Amino acid sequence: MTLRPRSVRARLTLWHAAVLALIVCAFSTTIFLLVRARLLEQLDARLDRDVATIERTYGEDPGEVSEADSRAGIQLFEVLEADRVLYRTEAWARKGLHSALDGRPGTAVLSWSSRDGEPLRVHSVSFPTHRISVAADESELRRTVATLALVLALGIPCAIALAIGGGFLLAGRVLAPVGAMAERARRITAESLGERLPVEDAGDEFGRLATIFNQTLGRLQDSFERLRRFTADASHELRTPLTAMRSVGEVALHDSLDRAGYRDVIGSMLEEVQRLTGLVENLLTLTRAESGRLQPSRSVVDLGALAARAVEHLRVLAEEKEQKLEVERNGLVEAQCDPALLRQGVVNLLDNAIKYTPARGEIRVSVRTLPSGEAAIEVKDSGPGIAEVHHRRIFDRFYRLDGARSRSSGGMGLGLAITRWTVEANGGRVEVESEEGRGSLFRVVLPAG
Ligand code: ADP
Repeated sequence: MTLRPRSVRARLTLWHAAVLALIVCAFSTTIFLLVRARLLEQLDARLDRDVATIERTYGEDPGEVSEADSRAGIQLFEVLEADRVLYRTEAWARKGLHSALDGRPGTAVLSWSSRDGEPLRVHSVSFPTHRISVAADESELRRTVATLALVLALGIPCAIALAIGGGFLLAGRVLAPVGAMAERARRITAESLGERLPVEDAGDEFGRLATIFNQTLGRLQDSFERLRRFTADASHELRTPLTAMRSVGEVALHDSLDRAGYRDVIGSMLEEVQRLTGLVENLLTLTRAESGRLQPSRSVVDLGALAARAVEHLRVLAEEKEQKLEVERNGLVEAQCDPALLRQGVVNLLDNAIKYTPARGEIRVSVRTLPSGEAAIEVKDSGPGIAEVHHRRIFDRFYRLDGARSRSSGGMGLGLAITRWTVEANGGRVEVESEEGRGSLFRVVLPAG
């Protein structure tokens, strides 16, 4: 079992009270000891003065020492000459003070209690021929010290009680925002990610915590939003070929077709299956990219050779459309990258260029080193171009300028998203320069190898 209270408020209060109690105790003890020492000092100084007065009187005439009693008002003293009493006041004898100095030869300072319990302070000073002893009532001093001790003893518990009460209130006030934050955080679910924690003062510790938590919530909300959109878009994309296949199948079932007719039906169904396969493959690539499981393995790559291979891979598509497809290499351009990943990105750019450029159009791939020293692969086409408003968004998943047309040409709006990821995973970036009706230029920029 642990004695540690579970509430922070209680812990803060206890710590606060304990530290304050310690300080008050140390402070009180110091005050008590200082006052007591100071009072004793004053009493001792008075007794020293009395000894000096008696000594002066003794020096003038030893027979006159009794006058110190009547003249100076010193009521408790005795003067011994070689252990013989020269003079002793009546009060001294009455209180039995001579026994206080028994066994204390020479000079002595002590506190002593008389037979009737009266506390006395005694000073005894030895001179070559005689010894003077004086005493004074110490009860006043003791009363003052006792009163002080009482005040302090009563004050300490009061101070601790106040510390506990004040600390509890203070801790409650200070921790109030935490309670409000916890209450609000408890209500936030996946459906209400738009809610935020209250921030009373963004500058203090709790404010900073709430702000950071709110920023995390913002990022979570974004991810959820993107995931939702992604799922909705993906379902939508999957539905289109499935619907096409179903209607083709239904028509084929309904009508009795000859052999060639069925071949047509199966052919168009396979086309849709191919579309679906492509879509699923792209989705898988993006999902793996997102999960961070695809780690690029970088090496120094000849970008010219990589671009040439990608062009050869797609040349047949360009030939089908009688497009002119050229590669321009300006010396050896190398970059540190994952060749397989980068090739996929470049193939997507080329695929788009061929897809969106009309028949007999022109596509030019150029590999060069930029003035900044970076390596670049540019894919330029003479196609329809892309208006500036779309430049930023074409890299988003499922974003298409002209849905129907791009879908009819096999586009699903994932190609550029994949290109951007493959290039960024290699430490580079993709730029687009294009105007509507004036062709497009996509530039993959990579740090030089
Ligand atoms: P898709 O699979 O539809 O081609 P992308 O992500 O590759 O998707 O491209 C997004 C959109 O950008 C396309 O729908 C298309 O409208 C536009 N686009 C991409 N490349 C080109 C290009 N070279 N010329 C004109 N439009 C392009």
